[in-house]
Amino acid sequence: MEAQLYIDGEFSQAASGQTGPVHEKATGKQLGTYAKATKEDIDRAIQAARQAQPAWAATSAPERSNLLLKFAEVLQERFDELVEQSMRETGGVRAKAEDEVGTSIKQLRISAVQVGQNAGDILPPYKAGKLSLSRAVPLGVIGLITPWNYPMNLAMRAVGPGLAFGNTIVLKPAELTPIIGGQVLAEAAHHAGFPPGVFNVVPGDGEQAGWPLATHPGLDLMDFTGSREIGVRIAEAAASNLRNIRLELGGSNAFVILDDADIELAASCAMIASLEFQGQTCISASRHIVHRDVADTYLDAVTKRVAALKVGDPFDNVDQGPLISEKQRDRVHHDIVEKSIAMGARLVSGGTYEGLFYRPTVLADVRPGMPAFDEEIFGPVIPVTVVDSEDEAIDLVNGYPMLMNSVFSADLVRGMRVAEQLQAGEVHVNDAHARHGAENQMPGFTKRQWIGVQRTPLNLPGWTAGVAG
Ligand code: NAD
Repeated sequence: MEAQLYIDGEFSQAASGQTGPVHEKATGKQLGTYAKATKEDIDRAIQAARQAQPAWAATSAPERSNLLLKFAEVLQERFDELVEQSMRETGGVRAKAEDEVGTSIKQLRISAVQVGQNAGDILPPYKAGKLSLSRAVPLGVIGLITPWNYPMNLAMRAVGPGLAFGNTIVLKPAELTPIIGGQVLAEAAHHAGFPPGVFNVVPGDGEQAGWPLATHPGLDLMDFTGSREIGVRIAEAAASNLRNIRLELGGSNAFVILDDADIELAASCAMIASLEFQGQTCISASRHIVHRDVADTYLDAVTKRVAALKVGDPFDNVDQGPLISEKQRDRVHHDIVEKSIAMGARLVSGGTYEGLFYRPTVLADVRPGMPAFDEEIFGPVIPVTVVDSEDEAIDLVNGYPMLMNSVFSADLVRGMRVAEQLQAGEVHVNDAHARHGAENQMPGFTKRQWIGVQRTPLNLPGWTAGVAG
C-alpha cells in the first residue's frame, strides 16, 4: 500500500523520490510506504488548487452536493476495509475505528446538505431607501494539516464544509497514518469525480512537508489540528503577514467528582473519558479532581475497573490497543508518569508496558506543578487530585487550556451550576465524551484551545468571507 501524492487529479511520487514506511502499530509489521513531499510538491499542489478554485466555486450548489454525496458513498462502500485499515494504522479498537470512519461519512453527508443552506443575509439598511445584502463567498485555497489520532474524521470535518462552500483543499496527513488519513480520501474523491485540483493530498513529514504548507503565501486559510507546540509556531509565522489561520490544539481537560457524586457512574465514565483510544484524544480527561470525602471510594472504583481492562492487538477483541509510537510511549512513561512519581505522586495501578502496550495507569496524590497535572497526557493515565471544596475544584480546573470537562454530582442543578463555571468548550454533567460531534459543535466558549472561526454549525455557512453590497 502506498500513500502517494494526489495533485491535480493525478497520483504520483514525491519530487524527491523519497518514501517512508507505514507500520501496523500493534504488530510493527510494515503495511506500506508514504511519499515524502517537500516544498516543490507543496508549491505544485497549491498551484493546482488555486487554478481549480474559481471554476469549483462557480459550480452549482446541487453539483457540489452530489459530488459530496458520491464521496460519502464511495467511502461507505469500503467501510469494513477502512475500519480495519484504521485499526492497523492507528492501533485503535474496532469501535473507535467504526466511529472514525462513520463520522467521516456523516460529515460529508451533512456538508452535502449545508451546500443548499443559507448563502447570506438581508441586513438592516444603514440608510432609508437602501437594500443591504451580505453574501457568503468562499475563502479560496485551504491548507489542512491533521494529526494521527482520528486522521480520517479530523480531515473530513474541514474537507466537507470546505468543499461544500466552493473552496479547494491541500491536505497533509500525519506521517504515522498517511493511508487512512490521506490516500484513501484521495482515492475516494477521485472515484467520486471531483474536478482535478479541487482536493489534493501531499503526504510527508512535519518539517519537510507540513511547514512549507503551513507558511505558504498561496493559501487563503491554514487549518491545523495538532500539538500546541506546532500550533504556536504556525501562529507566530502567520502573525508577521496576518495570514488567516485556524488552530485546534491540545489541552488539559478536567473530570470533577463532587462529594455527592454517584461514584460508580463517575468511575465508569472515567474509563471512556481518560482511556478511550489509550487516552490519545484531544478531549481526554487529563486531571481527575475529586472531593476528599469520596476520594478513596473513587480511587477503588476506578482501580477495579482499570484492572479488568484487556490490552493488546485490537484484532484480539481487547479494550485497549497500543500507543501510536515509541516516542509517545516514552513521553507518557518517562516525562509524565515517572516524573510525577518522583515529585510525590503515588502509583496505584499500571505504570508498566510491553512494547507499545501501556497498562492503563492510576496515579494518586497528584498536585499542580506535577506533569501529570499540568500537561496534556495523551496516554492511558488517570491522575487523581484531592480537593476539600467545590470552589477549590473550580479554581484548580480553570486557568488551563481545555476543550472538554465533566462534572459529577447527584444534584443536577448543582452539577449544572458548577459546569457553568468550568471554562471549556464543552462541559458534561454526569457524562463523558457525549459525542456532540464535529458537525454540530457549539460556537464560542472554548478556552485557549483553538483560534479562528467555528466550524459550520448546521444553520450557518462556513469557510466563507462576508461581502456586503
Ligand atoms: P503534531 O503537532 O506533532 O502533528 C500534527 C500534524 O502536524 C502532523 O501532520 C505533523 O506532521 C504536522 N507537523 C509536525 N511538525 C510540523 C511543522 N513543523 N510544521 C507543520 N506541520 C507539522 O501533533 P500530534 O502528535 O500528531 O497530535 C497530537 C496533538 O494534537 C495533541 O496535542 C492533541 O490534543 C492535538 N489534537 C487536537 C484536536 C482538536 O480537535 N483540538 C484533535 C486531535 C488532536
